[in-house]
Amino acid sequence: MIPIIAANWKMNKTVKEAVSFIKEFKGLVKDITNVNMIICPPSTSLYSMYNELKDSNINLGAQNIYFEKEGAFTGEISPLMAKELCKYVIIGHSERRGIFNEDNPLINKKLNAALENNLTPIFCIGESPEEKEAGKSKDVVKKQIKEGLKDVNAKKIIIAYEPIWAIGTGKTATPDIAQDMHSFIKETVGNVPILYGGSVKPENIKELIKEKDIDGALVGGASLDAKSFSEIVTGSIS
Ligand code: PEP
Repeated sequence: MIPIIAANWKMNKTVKEAVSFIKEFKGLVKDITNVNMIICPPSTSLYSMYNELKDSNINLGAQNIYFEKEGAFTGEISPLMAKELCKYVIIGHSERRGIFNEDNPLINKKLNAALENNLTPIFCIGESPEEKEAGKSKDVVKKQIKEGLKDVNAKKIIIAYEPIWAIGTGKTATPDIAQDMHSFIKETVGNVPILYGGSVKPENIKELIKEKDIDGALVGGASLDAKSFSEIVTGSIS
């Protein structure tokens, strides 16, 4: 399996900024064929990015979808709308869970809706600092998996293990901690690709990717700069 390196831009970059990033990034990674590179910009930039990335070696993902096909859901985008432009969609990011109150049953509906529309979900799981402190990391992750993946064909998804205490904090999980959880997730779900997320940078990708069950990375902050994100991509194969 080739490494999967995905960028989660969150609520960053105007269309102009997104296009300027992608023009630079395409040049930096033009010869890379053995990494699955995925960019997940805000939905306002998806169409321009789709046009920029057509016939390139880079894939496009959405950051979220709603589970209904269409209708009175102000502010949401449907799986069908995402599917017109993207191959991937992030589901259940900790910011969606924490700030927008998404729970496991809602995330489960979104995962099923994504798969019904041939979108590959990047299903995010991970424990909070308090849950880690209380020694509950594996129980939390197990519950997220059990409830999130109810009636989901897990063979068709990507999982991202993102401990909340490591997201945007500069505190990366050590490769040992991440490997231990990734191996636990594979025991629970089966052999699905698992990305690690949480302060991944050009400086730590090599150590992380060496681990047996770390199949790639979901990158927030360090994916906003084309050079830094390209160094993470090249670091994943060197
Ligand atoms: C993320 O939000 O998915 C993430 C991993 O962020 P960061 O890399 O900034 O910790």
